[in-house]
Amino acid sequence: MEVKTIDLPQGFEIDVKRFYMNGIIDMPCPCGGKLIRDFDEQYLSHPIIGEDMNISMHCDSCEKEYTIEGRIENIKIDISFDKNSIKEDI
Ligand SMILES: [Zn+2]
Repeated sequence: MEVKTIDLPQGFEIDVKRFYMNGIIDMPCPCGGKLIRDFDEQYLSHPIIGEDMNISMHCDSCEKEYTIEGRIENIKIDISFDKNSIKEDI
């Protein structure tokens, strides 16, 4: 197998209406609880690499929604492929 690494450049728009990814970010809520954004369950819509966006956060303690500014700093994709698997398209 060979591996080709692709770094998506700043300004690259991920042309996906519902872009799910792994991971959670959390931060303290003003109420003392914890604000959470679960990217497994809450998608981003057409995110742009390196561009500020509003990220909604939810607190289970006070049941309030908040918005923070954030951005996707980078995405790296490793594609592995087998040159011996070549087949002519028919
Ligand atoms: Zn709260």
